[in-house]
Amino acid sequence: MVTAAWAVVVIQVATGAGVLTARLTAPDLPRAAVAGAAQDRTVRGAGDREAAARTSAVTALLVRRASALIRRDRDAFLAGVDPRTPFRAAQARLFDALAAVPLADVGYDLDPARALELPPAAARRYDVPTWGAAVRMRYALAGYDGEPTAQEHYLTFVRRGGRWYLAADSDFASAGQRTARGLWDFGPVAAVRSRRVLVLGHPASLPLMRRILRTADAAVPRVTRVWRDWPGRVVVLVPDSTTELRRLVEHAGDLSQIAAVASADVGIDGGPPAGERVAINPGPFRSLSDFGRQVVVQHEITHVATRDVTSTNTPYWVAEGFADYVGYLDSGATVRSAARELGTDVRAGRLPKTLPTERDFAGDSPRLARAYEASWLACRVIAERIGRDGLVRFYREVSEAAGTPATALTAALRTQLRMTPAEFVAAWRDHLRRELG
Ligand SMILES: [Zn+2]
Repeated sequence: MVTAAWAVVVIQVATGAGVLTARLTAPDLPRAAVAGAAQDRTVRGAGDREAAARTSAVTALLVRRASALIRRDRDAFLAGVDPRTPFRAAQARLFDALAAVPLADVGYDLDPARALELPPAAARRYDVPTWGAAVRMRYALAGYDGEPTAQEHYLTFVRRGGRWYLAADSDFASAGQRTARGLWDFGPVAAVRSRRVLVLGHPASLPLMRRILRTADAAVPRVTRVWRDWPGRVVVLVPDSTTELRRLVEHAGDLSQIAAVASADVGIDGGPPAGERVAINPGPFRSLSDFGRQVVVQHEITHVATRDVTSTNTPYWVAEGFADYVGYLDSGATVRSAARELGTDVRAGRLPKTLPTERDFAGDSPRLARAYEASWLACRVIAERIGRDGLVRFYREVSEAAGTPATALTAALRTQLRMTPAEFVAAWRDHLRRELG
């Protein structure tokens, strides 16, 4: 039996507007020079010239840093870090922690217009000129990320002896600007992989990571049998604690009932989501049976597969119900065992009147388990009437329809099921009564 619930989390990153004046890729040094030159032509006066020189120096520093990460050149990486602060030792540990991570396409997008003023407490720690900026770090996990993803880093640079160095990445946290974190910020990272699945975690978790690899590797083709149009590759993160998970996915809600989450970085400038990950909550996940783990992993991989289509018009009950529909597929689970809490309600005469809403899926919702069960059965109703492919078409139509969530749902129910929302709710309640009563 599945004792924990699960959720989908979309992490909003890098949606700020603004022209990127120095968009760099590590192996792309000539373009960096061009970007710097373009800025030089627009400057006026001594202050502007100083700013342009700083932009140029910091840009070059970030290009060297990206290049060092790709080439695994520790000396070059550390040469760009302030030698006078403990941050340098932390950066050395970070570089070492990344050794097993297949990084590719590393780059930093620096826009001087996104300069930040250091909070006073942070500024007092430096006795040399400083400059702060919000910078987008791009990277891809080679072989698993179709496109590079981007995350926000809030960086402090210092000038010592005419040279600029990276001096900190957490000075702005007190102002709510927290640099995105990866597993590598929490210690050495180990990797296990198949052609379809990359599992990253810490070395102490290797036995669990290997089991998750087998589970996820079996889940991917099952997901693809239902949802055919996705790359069929997935990255799973195994942090050591819920605290670490919370930081990785920037989730502020209650995770105590959550065994795993699916997350993604929202694409730059309105582009499609990137950096899709399944992230495991180690405590609740370890408490699951093998069956529960298979269902959870298959459920989360379904979220990854449908990510490009899922929109703000996708009702929660459709996204979660569909993920459970795929998660339970061929599992042999009976409706009575997989919808236990809802069954108790139905037999006690408490048949739900409406489909679950977003609020029912909050991590601390007392109705969380019932919300998943009710959504799963709603998707089964659809699949029973118009088949598995019909359910997929319904998911796509409701997600891609223009208009409000309500009009999108009404239109999709009409097109795919020839039903009004009220007729669908009535059919779903009949199903609950029949299957659970
Ligand atoms: Zn989910």
